[in-house]
Amino acid sequence: HAVDLSGRVAIVTGANSGIGRSIALEMAAAGARVVVNHRPNEDAERRGADVVQAILRAGGQAVTAAADISREEDVEGLFRVALDHFQNVDILVNNAGIERPAAIQDMTLAQWQAVIDTNLTGQFLCARAAVRAFLNRASPASADGAAGKIIFISSVHEVIPWAFQANYAASKGGVSLLMQSLAQELAPLKIRVNSVAPGAIRTPINAPAWNTPESMASLLKLIPYGRIGEPEDVARAVAWLACDDSDYVTGSTLFVDGGMTLYPAFRGAG
Ligand code: NAD
Repeated sequence: HAVDLSGRVAIVTGANSGIGRSIALEMAAAGARVVVNHRPNEDAERRGADVVQAILRAGGQAVTAAADISREEDVEGLFRVALDHFQNVDILVNNAGIERPAAIQDMTLAQWQAVIDTNLTGQFLCARAAVRAFLNRASPASADGAAGKIIFISSVHEVIPWAFQANYAASKGGVSLLMQSLAQELAPLKIRVNSVAPGAIRTPINAPAWNTPESMASLLKLIPYGRIGEPEDVARAVAWLACDDSDYVTGSTLFVDGGMTLYPAFRGAG
């Protein structure tokens, strides 16, 4: 495996589905011990356990941890699971996220808050807990690597405005400056903080955008590279940012979007 995460402990939030699941599998294949977070409900628990089983079958190490990452006490519990099982936390992947689309005149406060609570406040709570865990380590920075790494899963909508998803775009825009501020604050402590911003990826969160030939055709007009992204496209970028090959990278957003942020309409017909 090109990327080496052996001996590292990684927490991946929302790892029972889609991009998070793929990140958990990719990091485990690179040698990390993975905490597979899922929401505290039966369906998510079953799918989280499936991810752990797949990792164990492949010879890796992983454990599930139920937590609603928008809840402070759940996040504390999530990090306790990591420390109890693996005695350490090296990497946090802040992946869990939701959409609640609505026209602004119809958007309820509950729809607004659900998205902000998970996509922004949840990422803050997990990042804070990760930094505390990094700072509590017995021997913080190793000579040849960071003392800890945080990777936010943002979105192209941290820069592309999104009609009818104002709550989502606001949350991801917030993640952008949250990530950069933490990167600036934590660099002297040898903690690296970066984002991966996916474009259109084939997961349940956006199924209507790709699950009919018509919707796929109109989606592809937005993607110069000519194909939808797969969760593995994102997972490989995350694994690289989590390993020491990217040791001098902090405060960056890596767009994994097939060129979606390149204003494809300006390409014209050529
Ligand atoms: P998904 O719906 O398959 O996965 C999201 C996961 O987050 C699910 O497992 C869900 O249960 C979990 N989750 C939601 N709220 C949670 C909470 N409060 N606590 C714990 N877990 C919670 O969707 P996905 O596409 O894999 O999304 C993963 C991330 O990627 C999200 O942050 C999303 O905004 C981002 N993203 C996705 C795309 C895309 O095209 N799929 C594009 C850009 C960004």
